[in-house]
Amino acid sequence: MHRLSAIELRNSFLKGKFSAQEICRFYLNRAMKMDEQLGAFLSLFPEQAMERAKALDEKKASGQVMGKLAGLPIAIKDNIHIEGEITTCGSKFLSNYRAPFSSTVCRLIEKEDAIFIGKTNLDEFAMGSSTQDSAFQSTSNPWDLTCVPGGSSGGSAVAVAARMAPLALGSDTGGSVRQPASFCGIVGFKPTYGRVSRYGLVAYGSSLDQISPFATTVSDTALLMEVIGQHCEHDSTSLPIPGEDYLEGMNKNGLMGMRIGVPREFLEQLAEEPKKIFNDSLKKFQELGAQIVDIDLNILKYALAAYYIIATAEASTNLARFDGIRYGVRAPGAKTLEEIYTMSKEEGFGPEVKRRILLGTFVLSSGYQDAYYRKAQKVRTLIIEKYREAFKLCDLIATPVSPFAAFEKGSIKDPLQMYLEDIYTIPINLAGVPAISVPNGFTSDKKPVGIQLIGPQKADKRVLHAAYAWEQATPFHNAMPPLAQQEI
Ligand code: GLN
Repeated sequence: MHRLSAIELRNSFLKGKFSAQEICRFYLNRAMKMDEQLGAFLSLFPEQAMERAKALDEKKASGQVMGKLAGLPIAIKDNIHIEGEITTCGSKFLSNYRAPFSSTVCRLIEKEDAIFIGKTNLDEFAMGSSTQDSAFQSTSNPWDLTCVPGGSSGGSAVAVAARMAPLALGSDTGGSVRQPASFCGIVGFKPTYGRVSRYGLVAYGSSLDQISPFATTVSDTALLMEVIGQHCEHDSTSLPIPGEDYLEGMNKNGLMGMRIGVPREFLEQLAEEPKKIFNDSLKKFQELGAQIVDIDLNILKYALAAYYIIATAEASTNLARFDGIRYGVRAPGAKTLEEIYTMSKEEGFGPEVKRRILLGTFVLSSGYQDAYYRKAQKVRTLIIEKYREAFKLCDLIATPVSPFAAFEKGSIKDPLQMYLEDIYTIPINLAGVPAISVPNGFTSDKKPVGIQLIGPQKADKRVLHAAYAWEQATPFHNAMPPLAQQEI
């Protein structure tokens, strides 16, 4: 079963080859046994999931029309609400916080007859690139257990890469879905800002956050996008346009005649091996009928600095609500109101979150707001304009996802060094454009590497179709981590 794509698995259920209960039991069993080594899940819902599977089998037996995700288990990053379940955000602060309502994405997924099997690990409040900065556990890369899976949505990426779930959701504020997808050898897609509702996603950087799907194939990613890419009245930044049929018209010739822009100067510092892998893929694009165009995106050298001002400014205001009064854990030793605030924050937040709250508070404080925050916003506008100009010369832009493949756990100690991991993914969130990470081969030590395809705003379908053509012309998506190949 774990060798099937989500679409194949759903069709097997619809044709009666497997029942929803068989599928659900199979994946729960894998997750329970394999996750001891991997640490992808913070919680599993065996009883609720099996009950739901039974209800789906009954629905099917009664002859009712089944949804697009019928019978498919799905894993959800633990910063997205499922009503009645704990949403920890990987933080001690929220270790007892039960979601009072479901996110729009989870409601849409439920309507299409999928099965929630568990919540997945993340860097605390989605701040990080390694899934080692969760308050609860660290997650391992299924290709090499000594390495990180990337982050912050590492738990969801590993759940899919190790075939403990055919589909998963993460959130991408600066690369948190694309980078782990690249490190784990699967597909991760960050939609146009506003395409997917943020209602019920615990906010990190509200102007950058997008809930984003993981799958092992581009078609499965497109299927999940069809479900979650809907206008939502609870999110004021939701695009007021109808959902799209992403699977329609997908074919192997999607790259024929495409102009692929490459910001060469921005890619200069890339190390030898990833550079070679990337350059080889440019040749492949040409073989597939695409044309490579040089574009100027030198402005992107300021993207990282702008991001760490804007994202931390937004984080510091978003996280102000966690003060020990209304949400989450209150410091038990606090006696006065002042102590409730300070001690709850001191005890509840981990070091990276504190660093970002401090940074964000600083860049917004009077006297510094113009020098940092406003300037960063101006840089952001320039980045948006430069992308617009670039897209006059090309249909899509190709870059690596990350400067390296998965790194060893504990090997990056300097926070700044960690921030540099996201140099190729962060600009996309600042510009609000869609981008995908698709498998693009392996390093000499057998670690997966992705390629990133970026489109103009609202060209989500174009990005998915080009990625599909790329996937169909390359063998990489067929590779499965040796650990995941076992039958359990
Ligand atoms: N790694 C980036 C950060 O730490 C991006 C995180 C994300 O996309 N949630 O902010």
